[in-house]
Amino acid sequence: MAATDHPVVAELTSGLGPGRVTAGEEISADDCHDESLHALGTRPRCVVRPQTTDEVAYVVGVCASHDVPIVARGSGTGLSGAATPLANGVVVAFDAMSRIKEVDLDNQVAVVEPGVTLRDLDDALAATGLRYPVYPGELSGSIGGNVNTNAGGMRAVRHGVTRNHVIGLELVLADATVLRTGGKVMKSSSGYDLTQLVIGSEGTLALVTEVTVRLASALPNASTLLVAFPELGAVTAAVPRLLAAGLAPSILEYLDAVTMVGISRAASLEFGVPDEVTAKTAAWLVVLLETRTAAALEADTEAAAAILGDLGALDVFVLPPASARALIEARERAFYVAKAAGADEIVDVVVPRAAVTDYLGVVASLAEAHGAFMAGCGHVGDGNVHLSVYLPDESRRTTLLDELFAAGVAAGGQVSGEHGIGLDKLRPYLSLVDPAVLSLQRGIKAVFDPEGRLNPGKLLGDGRTT
Ligand SMILES: Cc1cc2nc3c(=O)[nH]c(=O)nc-3n(C[C@H](O)[C@H](O)[C@H](O)COP(=O)(O)OP(=O)(O)OC[C@H]3O[C@@H](n4cnc5c(N)ncnc54)[C@H](O)[C@@H]3O)c2cc1C
Repeated sequence: MAATDHPVVAELTSGLGPGRVTAGEEISADDCHDESLHALGTRPRCVVRPQTTDEVAYVVGVCASHDVPIVARGSGTGLSGAATPLANGVVVAFDAMSRIKEVDLDNQVAVVEPGVTLRDLDDALAATGLRYPVYPGELSGSIGGNVNTNAGGMRAVRHGVTRNHVIGLELVLADATVLRTGGKVMKSSSGYDLTQLVIGSEGTLALVTEVTVRLASALPNASTLLVAFPELGAVTAAVPRLLAAGLAPSILEYLDAVTMVGISRAASLEFGVPDEVTAKTAAWLVVLLETRTAAALEADTEAAAAILGDLGALDVFVLPPASARALIEARERAFYVAKAAGADEIVDVVVPRAAVTDYLGVVASLAEAHGAFMAGCGHVGDGNVHLSVYLPDESRRTTLLDELFAAGVAAGGQVSGEHGIGLDKLRPYLSLVDPAVLSLQRGIKAVFDPEGRLNPGKLLGDGRTT
């Protein structure tokens, strides 16, 4: 039977009407993968684009009656393969549910559909004096996808990650029940927190059809410091000291020298750093300070520069606003630079902030021992290191990665800080997670989705894959 002949396709097509269901060759290549380096592209039975919660519930009900698995899709910018379709499944794409339903200025919240992108929300808030302060690097990502990966990004060091800003959800469960969790309230002590449970669940527990996010006041004064250090260890060691000084940077990002060269070339960046400083620089720290008043900004910038000088910085450059924006944008695109350079793996281990220096030492030893090349950058203020791993031999790479993840967990860290487990990090996650934790997680999955129809095979590595 051709994929397009399957009864689930016929029923969804007639139920939703023309143009809402694509099947077979009509499915765009984009809908068949996310941005994982390992994404091969899988064509599902069909892709549906619901426009309302009722339509999502209808689709889930039809899939249940045909016992067909569902993979939710936001913008497909995920880096772990979590949105990879199943050949026998239905993809529910949320890009047609992209309305900003409400910006509530008094409660400082926004209520949005899951397909709203970060860029759209940012634009909609521009004139309000408020903003949604979670900025994972790819602004075309959807809020629904951010919720399901618990996305982080550069500004998490000050503002926290998605989990810290989502206070309410509307969900469609695997049996098509529609329910709400949380709301506009800033706190709750009323039973298990199902909002938090669904955040980071990678589409395995429910489909998210509405999100209520907490907003923050925009801070109008900003200065960006580009700081040169002679050793990577000196950068990572400086971070806890800078934070302890109470400066509350909005971004604390490290880039090793190789990564800085790569992103600078790709974006034609030029900061006017003297050649002799660049020659001595092994790693860079980017510090964004944001304040309510210009006077506070001046004081904080001076204090940060003085502290960084004391901590061994070769030089501190305060960037003009346009250069600062260009640097942050180029850093956000570091993944594409690594991909173009032929990276074989991207790792986003998170360790306690104070353990980053030692962990990066272990990383360097492992690279040498296994004959790999690794370069990196990351949200060092959160202890989140992004490593591009270059080692084409798959078997040697697997051994290296196993040791790299094990070292991260041994340092008190986690396999993924923000990209999620999906398919790509399943192997290290399953081998390193406490079996009692995994068993509890699988039990929770069974309560939400007893038939294992929602994104099976991802995150927990269990359930059906057909
Ligand atoms: C260049 C680049 C830079 C990036 N930088 C960062 C970064 O700094 N920090 C960071 O955290 N991430 C980063 N990412 C990863 C990515 O942007 C995030 O993972 C983002 O949250 C994914 O959103 P999406 O809409 O593309 O989700 P998708 O990739 O479409 O899906 C992600 C997961 O969410 C599920 N899902 C999507 N929508 C729903 C829904 N409505 N209901 C239920 N499940 C759903 C999917 O099934 C899948 O499991 C980066 C990606 C790129 C390409």
